[in-house]
Amino acid sequence: MQNRPQLSLFERIRQLKAKQKAIILAHNYQLPEVQDIADYIGDSLGLSRIASSTPAEVIVFCGVRFMAETASILCPDKLVLMPDMDAGCPMADMITATGLRALKKEHPGASVVSYVNTPAEVKAETDICCTSANAVEIIKSLADREEIIFVPDKYLGSYVCAKLKRNLILWDGYCPAHIRILSEDIIRQKKMHPKAEVVVHPECLPEVVNLADAVLSTEGMFRHIKASQAAEVIVGTEIGILHRLKKENPQKEFFPASQLAVCPGMKLTSLEKILWCLEDRKGEINVPQEIRAKAIKSIDRMLDLKPPGKDILPTDE
Ligand code: 13P
Ligand code: SF4
Repeated sequence: MQNRPQLSLFERIRQLKAKQKAIILAHNYQLPEVQDIADYIGDSLGLSRIASSTPAEVIVFCGVRFMAETASILCPDKLVLMPDMDAGCPMADMITATGLRALKKEHPGASVVSYVNTPAEVKAETDICCTSANAVEIIKSLADREEIIFVPDKYLGSYVCAKLKRNLILWDGYCPAHIRILSEDIIRQKKMHPKAEVVVHPECLPEVVNLADAVLSTEGMFRHIKASQAAEVIVGTEIGILHRLKKENPQKEFFPASQLAVCPGMKLTSLEKILWCLEDRKGEINVPQEIRAKAIKSIDRMLDLKPPGKDILPTDE
């Protein structure tokens, strides 16, 4: 019997993807090989926009659950698959719809802004969503509101408060990966690389944010670094971002602020799991219709806020 040549994992995924009219979306923190097979790599905002506009029939979402849920809310007619259903975001799990309803009762007139890092049930209790790329702009758009509840990230919330010099009612949530980056890490890296620019994510601790030259979403970091003159960059976010940063900026040097900034949920997706989920069409994300109908309003309000042709960027860009 003649041996048939073995197709590589990459080729088998590509064939199945074409056959099923599927696209693969990957977050900037995914493993290098997952980023390399993806059709689009981006931040939460960018991936939501792609999900809402793609003609593909199947979306394989390589990220964490809240991201795939957002895609499913935006595209109820598409099949949204997660290669590993256990890929969660601990920050998103720090808030529940019951908890948010109780807080709303304490502040009956308050508007609710939720970071997209929330379960769909929380989005259903929300007036408008935001991501780290547009949080400042979203809160700015609510300048006439007396009280605003901001959930669940107290550090993104306090960054916005400082930036806009206004108070927000904050939830006590945080990202366990970003809080591993300490101010002493930045100080040590600065000593070793005095000419390096310090770029951090707004989920970092306030004392880390205060030491940064730029505070940006993951996609904001790509735009900023590409345009910047700096040849060396200290990167204060999850270390998965380094793969694409190095690939797209081969002439620059990157130093992770801390090797401990690792998001376990983001590392659960592998090429094998992508193949299996396409082969078996398993790992479907379904948001119940009554939750979806409410949650989509808060996501649409966020997406509608972007004027055509103009990116919503943090105010320091
Ligand atoms: P970005 O939207 O900046 O990619 O952030 C998502 C996230 O979960 C960061 O931890
Ligand atoms: Fe959630 Fe933090 Fe992981 Fe982002 S890095 S998905 S906020 S746990």
